[in-house]
Amino acid sequence: MKTCQLKIVTIIGARPQFIKAAVVSRLIAQYDDIEEIIVHTGQHFDSNMSDSFFKELSLPHPRYHLNINCLNHGALTGRMMEKLEELLLQERPDWVLVYGDTDSTLAGALAAKKLHIKVAHVEAGLRSFNMDMPEEINRILTDRISNVLFCPTPAAVQNINKEGFANFNATIVQSGDVMQDAALFYAQRAKKPVAALPKDFILCTVHRAENIENATRLSAIFDTLNSIAQELPIVLPLHPHTRQQLSAMYSHKLHPYISFINPVGYLEMIWLLQHCQFVMTDSGGLQKEAYFFRKFCLTLREETEWTELVENGVNFLVGANPLKIKEGVAEIITKKWKLFQHDLYGNAHAAERILTELRNVSGKSMMGMID
Ligand code: UDP
Repeated sequence: MKTCQLKIVTIIGARPQFIKAAVVSRLIAQYDDIEEIIVHTGQHFDSNMSDSFFKELSLPHPRYHLNINCLNHGALTGRMMEKLEELLLQERPDWVLVYGDTDSTLAGALAAKKLHIKVAHVEAGLRSFNMDMPEEINRILTDRISNVLFCPTPAAVQNINKEGFANFNATIVQSGDVMQDAALFYAQRAKKPVAALPKDFILCTVHRAENIENATRLSAIFDTLNSIAQELPIVLPLHPHTRQQLSAMYSHKLHPYISFINPVGYLEMIWLLQHCQFVMTDSGGLQKEAYFFRKFCLTLREETEWTELVENGVNFLVGANPLKIKEGVAEIITKKWKLFQHDLYGNAHAAERILTELRNVSGKSMMGMID
């Protein structure tokens, strides 16, 4: 039985948030004075985008499941806020902990802040400087109202400082990146996917709205991937939203050389990262995971929040431009891995740093580890 000193409500709803929250939750479970209540908004609901992550990452079962999904941004955020307000009034936590940049992140932060409940944002300070991205809007607004900003990198801290956050009475902490904690912890537990895989494959994912909701970009990317796959095998775990868009606009059967597989669990993803030649993606998380596993990455976007990877010559921004994508592939296959800087994302103790700071800011510094 826990003697709770600190009550935290963790709000998550999307695949990358399950991974990030898993490392912090695992640590919370070791303390007898912190109670965590997990709320799943339901934003991602397919079993291979949600339930499988709870199971394989041993993420505690959500106390509340809001089951809100398949709506436009406004309705999604609004309905989440309404439900979250109800449950926060009931639970009255000391902190609401939100992760990343989804509609669940913003809804959680807004609902809590209006009830004067303190908000902590993990993955604060990241910026693409592209205000057309829903994620950019979510992260800027969440940062603005959070009491503690856990920034993964020095660049994220700089962004926050440039935006004048020092005047907003928020605590800014360079915590390192929880995804590095996750990658390191789960690397030993990697699992080979059951799907048949070609040898020496390129690992690829595509799901960003800017790429899949724009017919020109969607066809430029998939036609180029298909052409590359005639010579270099590409394995592509297909996001449900991308599958929908491809079948609405083209049918992915038009890209016969790409090895499409269903979305995989995180442990399988780690195996794919460990065994691929390199990565092509528009995912935020995967760009860093490529680096954690010492693989080059071609980013299918014009900008990235993880600028240090580009500065270190391990990530290349190629957008949806067929020529740049092909030139990128040609460069990468002969390139030697060499970094100018190390430890770009901290020392894989981000979760510890986050909990220590939450205690400090709450004025509760005792460390009540369960034996
Ligand atoms: N991921 C996964 N299975 C997949 C595709 C991605 O486990 O089939 C993991 C990936 O390794 C990373 C996270 O999901 O840890 C990234 O999520 P996503 O690309 O959906 O979101 P983003 O990082 O762009 O916010």
